Amino acid sequence: YTSREFHPSDTLVKVDDVVIGGNDFITMAGPCSIESLDQIMECARIAKAGGAKILRGGAFKPRTSPYAFQGLGEEGLKYMRQASDAYGLKMITEVMDEANLELVCHYTDIIQIGARNMQNFRLLEAIGKTQKPVALKRGISGTIDEWLHAAEYIASQGNLNIIFVERGIRTYETATRNTLDLSAVPIIQKLSHFPIIVDPSHGVGVWEYIPPMAVASVATGASGMIVEIHPTPEQAWSDGPQSLKEDTYLKMMRQVDVMVEAM
Ligand code: PEP
Ligand code: MN
Repeated sequence: YTSREFHPSDTLVKVDDVVIGGNDFITMAGPCSIESLDQIMECARIAKAGGAKILRGGAFKPRTSPYAFQGLGEEGLKYMRQASDAYGLKMITEVMDEANLELVCHYTDIIQIGARNMQNFRLLEAIGKTQKPVALKRGISGTIDEWLHAAEYIASQGNLNIIFVERGIRTYETATRNTLDLSAVPIIQKLSHFPIIVDPSHGVGVWEYIPPMAVASVATGASGMIVEIHPTPEQAWSDGPQSLKEDTYLKMMRQVDVMVEAM
């Protein structure tokens, strides 16, 4: 169900009036983690000011260390729903396990499957049994073929609202957090009818390198991007070094708009 051969024309993933995979380049922006109502409200304000249509933020965080902040859980989801509605934004947040799927679906418009769960096949099948739009991140060392097959676990259960997210892969390079594989965009577009967006934040992991990668994402023909912002990145509870401050984000979005016009 994922292949172009099965469905030659592009599939559009719709969240009310926000369409991913159509002519618009859709930006999802927000913090790595939801930290408080004030923080997510402020992020929503900044996201909206830059032209983002969707607010991102994590309430269930897949952290490398079990001792690191794990997210606010349902409390965070409530804050984020409130902030999304206050600013007329749609909401995307991660679900980490089947046990919380119903809960997360209750609050969010789009489910995010994190890189670490790309091959959590039971979770993928459970999401496949819903009709929720789902953003499937590429695994940390996921090949294109493994990624397509992961999408198939969702699609084969009946959910055809899938968005691929290129978020960088692990290579020998250490100057960046991951190596952003922008070539994945035209490849996925050739092999699948589902839309693909880019996550330059996790892709490079260093805030300074994110604006050029965001502009490049537009140039690849991607359907959008997902990017981390924070009112005070140096105080962020997670992923501060890759979070954009308001002025950097707004400047980047102006450059992105110029590239969108040029395409
Ligand atoms: C995130 O979006 O904050 C995240 C944890 O991303 P990834 O799964 O791509 O590492
Ligand atoms: Mn993050």
